[in-house]
Amino acid sequence: MTAHELVKKIKNRELSSEEVTVSIFKRIEEVEGKVKAFVSRAKDLAVKQAREIDSRIAGGGDPGILGGVPVLIKDNINVTGTRTTCSSKILHNFVSPYDATVTKKLRDAGAVFIGKSNLDEFAMGSSTETSHYGATRNPWNLDCIPGGSSGGSAAAVAAGQTVLAIGSDTGGSIRQPASFCGVVGLKPTYGRVSRYGLVAFASSLDQIGPITRDTADAALLMNAIAGYDKNDSTSVDLPAPDYTRSLVKDVKDIRIGIPKEYFGEGLNKDVEKAVRDAVKLIEGQGAKVREVSLPHTEYAVAAYYIIAPSEASSNLARYDGVKYGYRTEGDENPGLSLIDVYERTRGEGFGQEVKRRIMLGAYSLSSGYYDAYYLKAQKVRTLIKKDFDEAFGEVDIIITPTTPTTAFRVGEKIDDPLQMYLLDIYTISANLAGLPGISIPCGFDGKGMPVGLQLLAKPFDEETLLRVAYSYEQSTDWHLREPELRQGRVNGKV
Ligand code: GLN
Repeated sequence: MTAHELVKKIKNRELSSEEVTVSIFKRIEEVEGKVKAFVSRAKDLAVKQAREIDSRIAGGGDPGILGGVPVLIKDNINVTGTRTTCSSKILHNFVSPYDATVTKKLRDAGAVFIGKSNLDEFAMGSSTETSHYGATRNPWNLDCIPGGSSGGSAAAVAAGQTVLAIGSDTGGSIRQPASFCGVVGLKPTYGRVSRYGLVAFASSLDQIGPITRDTADAALLMNAIAGYDKNDSTSVDLPAPDYTRSLVKDVKDIRIGIPKEYFGEGLNKDVEKAVRDAVKLIEGQGAKVREVSLPHTEYAVAAYYIIAPSEASSNLARYDGVKYGYRTEGDENPGLSLIDVYERTRGEGFGQEVKRRIMLGAYSLSSGYYDAYYLKAQKVRTLIKKDFDEAFGEVDIIITPTTPTTAFRVGEKIDDPLQMYLLDIYTISANLAGLPGISIPCGFDGKGMPVGLQLLAKPFDEETLLRVAYSYEQSTDWHLREPELRQGRVNGKV
């Protein structure tokens, strides 16, 4: 069941939160050995929270808008007293000293925390294969990756191991795994959701958002987490609307733009067909569709892979083994200087992809290269933002594929970082421009793997985004399909 169904049943006592939570852990035990979506699980804590919600309801109290519903949190977001590892060795023993704002808001909304989900180390990746704790698998085909970096969150939603999940998106990490796993992923506008308590990757791009079974659940989760927070200086002081009010099936006269640059070389034919069919359906519902141009699209990957690593190299300078996290085992050696301890700690604690990003970033920011790389990338970023400003002068929503292909096989691209980076082509621009974006299921390829439809909107217009997504969803059943794994079958076998 979805959260919007469960909340009602728990509130009117048709079901208890404890029953729901226990059944979720039963599912986790059945499939987790295959999916590997979790870094840590918190069954005892979850059951305790669920009982508290149940007794609040029994006493006539308000259980909150997510009252009693299980939520899985990406393991780069703090939950007091539990480990936040970022799927890295360097934070393997780090226990969150405080709740992220999102965590606190979810608590206030009555959510039940069931554990922390796997990610690419420090959210750097597109496949959840760079995790120190091993790769997560795609529930639709266990030989395939679930996407990334919020691969654990998306896979767990698809496999029924949670009802709701939270992800983070710096260059596509909510939308791309949602697309690969056949679920809904929403990246809010930069500034809409507080990042206080999210471990920083690239601070000018990072956003937290929902990964859910349908758009109604995404709206519900947004109601719980959106809003201004004085602890995050980039959060914007605007009132957050009631997003569930956007769940109306009506796209009449909504102007839709199709950017021609997103339908070129490298786009898989099955993905293109599913996306074009979706656009036709939305047009048939009364929306006005036209072509638009985002001419600087071809520079987006290059600009992102300078800006994001530059910010990462600065943000990750804090992991030195002194105050918290992993410290080299040789630190008792009297021959080691402080610099040796830093170097060994970082050398042993970070994985290969994280080191690659730190080197790329440190290089781009170094004197003599700063103007040629970092500054130029920032100028390109401005041009990309201007492309969107112009396009949004003519249309309300831009529709694109979320990714150029469907999920690929585990190991297929892990030794070719450039191929991996190029896959982010359709998602990265929304982060560079600060725009909200959603990926919703819109079909399957010839191999039975899910295809995602990406919708982008003007800053702070998540409402139109949800309205168009909901209208499409109401006329299709893609979001209702379930991987065989959920019926006890795996890759075709019982
Ligand atoms: N795949 C992109 C990267 O590797 C985006 C990751 C993200 O959004 N966290 O940087």
